[in-house]
Amino acid sequence: MDFPGRRRRFAERLEALEVGAALVTRLVNVRYLTGFTGSNGQLLFAAGGDGSRGTFFTDFRYEEQSRHQVPDLERVIAREKFPEAFVAAAKALAVAKVGFEEEDVTYRIWRDLTEAAEGTELVPLGPEVERLRWVKEPEERALIARAQAVTDAGFEDILGRLAEGVTEREIALELELAMRRAGADALAFDSIVAFGENAAEPHHHPADRALKRGDVVKLDFGGLVEGYHADMTRTVALGDPGDRMREVYKIVHEAQAAGIAAVRPGVEGKVADGASRQVITDAGYGEFFGHSLGHGVGLEIHEGPTLRATSDDLLPVSAVVTVEPGIYLPGEGGVRIEDMVEVIEGGCIAMPAATHDLLVL
Ligand code: ZN
Ligand code: ZN
Repeated sequence: MDFPGRRRRFAERLEALEVGAALVTRLVNVRYLTGFTGSNGQLLFAAGGDGSRGTFFTDFRYEEQSRHQVPDLERVIAREKFPEAFVAAAKALAVAKVGFEEEDVTYRIWRDLTEAAEGTELVPLGPEVERLRWVKEPEERALIARAQAVTDAGFEDILGRLAEGVTEREIALELELAMRRAGADALAFDSIVAFGENAAEPHHHPADRALKRGDVVKLDFGGLVEGYHADMTRTVALGDPGDRMREVYKIVHEAQAAGIAAVRPGVEGKVADGASRQVITDAGYGEFFGHSLGHGVGLEIHEGPTLRATSDDLLPVSAVVTVEPGIYLPGEGGVRIEDMVEVIEGGCIAMPAATHDLLVL
């Protein structure tokens, strides 16, 4: 992972924002900038220069781990309250203005920092580190590809287990076992397993519903590998799902293809969303596709750039985003097809090996 390069870009960005330093408190962003994987860590990071001026804070539990993972920054094992350690480090950096992550800092932390700050001005920063994370390095893309591979392995395994009488809960458990056997460290998120009419709920929580012939089976799941997530949805059927669900599947399939065709560098998220949504709207099902088309995937399951009707996010080369249209018919069922795609010059490539065609088991 290119930690020095990430820190250099962040330091340049802070300089452009005219703050002397940034306090990074979102753990996933601390991880991105330093490689630290523990549960308590903050970073005070100076603007400008080569991006090497910063102080990493953690507690005694991570003294040894951080010595290995963050060898190239000053480390402070905060034995006193964090605000005091922060102020001491800010003074050492001799900066007047420090940005903080406005979407992470709670009112209480803000108050404590402000009270301790003594002349250091605290100003809110938007999702600056998150923005850097949109563009994946080759090593990150390789880890996402591994997460996708364990997800594909889970899908292969589960197709052989879908039979009359199995419950959503059982299938969710089997999916987890199959992905972990294939090398997943954990689930990327709680699997969605929805049979029949439950597939009309976009985020159904698996319960004791037993599978019947004629049901659609909606599976939204993914594995986690070394901190990187995968996210895939497939909808299959046990026996003939009927004309209506076949029609809905065909429309969602076309909408997903249109979304993938629209994803390329320089395109706004709303344009990709619109290209896919148009297919569903034209088919008369617009009101049954109530969520956005997709989202970035990486160190978090949902990150930027976003593909939704209001998104001005410009898709960069080497972003990884999902394309996941769906149609949900209350009382009947629903279909979603979701791929992660990697943005490349001139277009994108879908990452899953799993077919987009309707599998009737
Ligand atoms: Zn998903
Ligand atoms: Zn998703």
